[in-house]
Amino acid sequence: MLTLQYLASMQRELKQRHQALEGEIALRTEALTEANGRLLELATTDELTQVPNRREWQQRSSEAIVRSRRYKDPLSIIMLDIDHFKRINDEHGHLVGDVILKRLSQRCSKNLREIDTFARWGGEEFVILLPETDEAHALIVAEKLRHAVCAEPILSEGQTPISLTISLGVTSLSMIDLSLDDLLRRADEALYAAKAAGRNCTISYAQLRTHFLHSDPDAGKKPAA
Ligand code: GH3
Ligand code: MG
Ligand code: MG
Repeated sequence: MLTLQYLASMQRELKQRHQALEGEIALRTEALTEANGRLLELATTDELTQVPNRREWQQRSSEAIVRSRRYKDPLSIIMLDIDHFKRINDEHGHLVGDVILKRLSQRCSKNLREIDTFARWGGEEFVILLPETDEAHALIVAEKLRHAVCAEPILSEGQTPISLTISLGVTSLSMIDLSLDDLLRRADEALYAAKAAGRNCTISYAQLRTHFLHSDPDAGKKPAA
């Protein structure tokens, strides 16, 4: 009789211990999941602007390229660079420059769709992934961003409003592209042309090619006698 009572109490105690252990495991799992989430956020987010970082953008873009090929959907990217940012830093200080980078990121992100990815490439350069978007529509998006930035000065805490302009290069995925690097190279070329054209403008790689195809290098030369 005594043994049965003893066994029953042992069983109760074991059950209680088991429940306590399960509770502890659940708590630790939750903490671990949270810590993993935080780590992932740190690894994928740009610390200053809180938008995705270059690595995360490259990862999402590479995946989007695979999907785009599979479903025969268009895909475009935009490269964006702040005009004369060095001057802004020199005139207002590096901290104000930092605030501007943050505000510009927020303003641009707000003007994009949920499926687009606005990311910091580095310094004062940003990249945008536009899935399901052809070059003509990407140009419209780029112009929308350019207007959103130059239309209203950026306010930095307690300082005078600062006006900014940006230059943008646009390109779309083509059949012959081997990797994301091909797209990046073309967007960079288009951006370079936008800078050379006087800044505060958008140029697509297709426009660049058309321009070169239609411009006659011998134009203006006298015909040979
Ligand atoms: P351009 O119109 O040709 O692009 O001229 P720019 O002055 O914008 O370009 P440049 O490459 O000469 O200078 C970029 C500047 O961006 C210089 C650098 O100090 C500044 N910059 C890069 N990263 C940061 C940052 O994280 N914070 C701040 N405040 N400035 C940065
Ligand atoms: Mg710049
Ligand atoms: Mg730059």
